[in-house]
Amino acid sequence: MVGSVGSVTVVGESNGKPEPLPEELINPESLLAEDLPIEEEKPKREIVLGRNVHTTCLEVTEPDADDEVTGEREAYMAGVLARYRKSLAERTKHHLGYPYNLDFDYGALAQLQHFSINNLGDPFIESNYGVHSRQFEVGVLDWFARLWELEKNEYWGYITNCGTEGNLHGILVGREVFPDGILYASRESHYSVFKAARMYRMECIKVDTLMSGEIDCADFRNKLLQNKEKPAIINVNIGTTVKGAVDDLDLVIKTLEETGFKHDRFYIHCDGALFGLMMPFVKRAPKVSFKKPIGSVSVSGHKFVGCPMPCGVQITRLEHINALSRNVEYLASRDATIMGSRNGHAPIFLWYTLNRKGYRGFQKEVQKCLRNAHYLKDRLRAAGIGAMLNELSSTVVFERPKDDDFVRRWQLACEGNIAHAIVMPNITIGKLDDFVDELILKRSGWFQDGKILTPCISADIGVDNCACKFHK
Ligand SMILES: *Cc1c(COP(=O)(O)O)cnc(C)c1O
Repeated sequence: MVGSVGSVTVVGESNGKPEPLPEELINPESLLAEDLPIEEEKPKREIVLGRNVHTTCLEVTEPDADDEVTGEREAYMAGVLARYRKSLAERTKHHLGYPYNLDFDYGALAQLQHFSINNLGDPFIESNYGVHSRQFEVGVLDWFARLWELEKNEYWGYITNCGTEGNLHGILVGREVFPDGILYASRESHYSVFKAARMYRMECIKVDTLMSGEIDCADFRNKLLQNKEKPAIINVNIGTTVKGAVDDLDLVIKTLEETGFKHDRFYIHCDGALFGLMMPFVKRAPKVSFKKPIGSVSVSGHKFVGCPMPCGVQITRLEHINALSRNVEYLASRDATIMGSRNGHAPIFLWYTLNRKGYRGFQKEVQKCLRNAHYLKDRLRAAGIGAMLNELSSTVVFERPKDDDFVRRWQLACEGNIAHAIVMPNITIGKLDDFVDELILKRSGWFQDGKILTPCISADIGVDNCACKFHK
């Protein structure tokens, strides 16, 4: 059982031979040395499907009988944690590719770490477990319901474990409302949407996208017309993962109406994991509102909002939940969440942030992000690097750097020929300058004879944004 849970051997990636732990993890003494290289000299990372590759692993060992006396184990563990903390601080400094706002101070909440807070089940029905934070959870949900314009007595929702859980829930509600409905989602939707289709065994139709990454409503129209006999369940992206494109919600609704889908024949789930809390503060963005015929909205709490643990918010209409939970009423309680036990700390972090920043605080942060994203795009273009930035977005798409170490150092997300940087509130102009300067410097070394051959990425970002020799 090589590399399985419970095995305490560290297994290398090549031939199954145990690999020793890095010296500094075995020997706490070496931790005291300043500025240990953290990123350098790591084995090359590879993705191997069907096999768990243990590149690094902190061994779990059984305590020795005299450990308590010598204190050696305590010292060892403290050393490992100290080093880990240092590497976290370092990795946090160079992070551009994932939409996580790493700028926060939750010191005031450290005192709650000692409690096992669990909001198991429904936020609006108390269980017998008393160590919960439902009062915070419901306060946060009320705030989001107000943001998306749904009355207190007309909404239902809960704080999820992540944006994915929100999508799984929203699409499940759609499926329960329309058991024979077809799921429509643009090609550039998050993979969790297609996962939901597989999990629920739903018929799923992928809709084409425009160059910007938005759903192509002409293609959507054709596909609706070919399937008029079945209700439609639609995933609308409030920010796509790779290009940060915001689907035009109003055009999606108009397309449904024009193809003969009455409001009782479709269900719209808005995947706002990425920009769900940014778009309300951008004037030109299509407004997400339950005054429109939508069924649910979800957002991630650890992205723009800046929660230090994965979480999310899901809001839907109470009428749908009543329909959904009637089916399971014989289970004795309302069971309408995907998960059973739920992280009771997350609602407190969200509550704390919302209280601190408020509406105006978020608005300012959004404006700063959009401004800084423009700055990044302009600097890349000025350096002769093709780049795209959607109007309603802080995701800057550009050529994939040739060097994997550079990609890893800046934690860029890549897909095919392109990479992206997502400008979150913790990304300052200074950091962007460091990034671009380093990219320009490295780039000259990636091409032979120092002659830079700018790759053509017009198929990904359009001819206007491409900077190759044919398109600049
Ligand atoms: C990040 C993301 C998700 C998934 O959110 P997690 O919180 O990572 O599960 C879903 N949809 C979009 C568009 C995203 O960007």
